[in-house]
Amino acid sequence: MVSWLDISAQYDICDETNTFLIPYRTLIWVYVMIDVHAHMTDPSFTDLPEVIRKAKDAGVLAIVTSITDPDDLPKAEKILAEYRGYIHLTVGLDPTLISEEKFASFLRGLEKVDPVGIGEVGLDHYYVRDPLLRDIQEKRFRECIRVAVSRDKPLVVHSRSAGKKALEVLFSEGAEKVLMHAFDGKAGDALEAAKRGYFFSIPASVVHSEQKQKMVRLLSIESIMLETDSPVLSPVKGERNEPANLLYSARKVAEIKRMDLLEVIQTTTENASRFFKIKV
Ligand SMILES: [Zn+2]
Repeated sequence: MVSWLDISAQYDICDETNTFLIPYRTLIWVYVMIDVHAHMTDPSFTDLPEVIRKAKDAGVLAIVTSITDPDDLPKAEKILAEYRGYIHLTVGLDPTLISEEKFASFLRGLEKVDPVGIGEVGLDHYYVRDPLLRDIQEKRFRECIRVAVSRDKPLVVHSRSAGKKALEVLFSEGAEKVLMHAFDGKAGDALEAAKRGYFFSIPASVVHSEQKQKMVRLLSIESIMLETDSPVLSPVKGERNEPANLLYSARKVAEIKRMDLLEVIQTTTENASRFFKIKV
């Protein structure tokens, strides 16, 4: 939520005979955004304290980090303890990790921590081309959705090259609390899902992605959140992405929708805060 920072001060104004106290009060805008999807456990973040400092300076009020391999849970717990109340966790399973063992380990992970959501989980038809493997992937995705629905947890969904299919699966499972992250499907399909209350998080790569720009044009701001997907999807191709770049998403959304930047930030932060039950 964009909040007013209230700065109050009193100045002494003196003349030859008397001292007058003149109360002085001013208000300034502060950006407060939530990066709803990043991977802070990624090995490339060897300079995490600096990355977090820059994020705070850039107006990022909270980060939702996502693990996609249960083996990363100990590292995530350590980071969460270090940045309590600032970094929040979603526990997921990479769509390419389809073994029984990984799924069992994912379920154990959910018991161990109480994440703000489940994800990212989903389908990946970019890396997985084999129809048989895609079937197993869908079975796992359905299992993950059922876990989220039964626990009343929001879902963060990965759907690379499988946007329409992932939405069909979600609809058929009756999933309601859904955030489609970095959705690369058709803008029309996104709009259909948004009508059911699904959210779409817009990565900073929107600055150079025609498909993301089209989606932003079509969707209402009420269905949009902001993400970086750090360390990937950088606004500058080839560079490591980080949460401080969230402002790129906000600015581009404001430009495309011809909205005030602060209004974009306020609405997307409120959407994220309600969705993940993160207090701001
Ligand atoms: Zn991701």
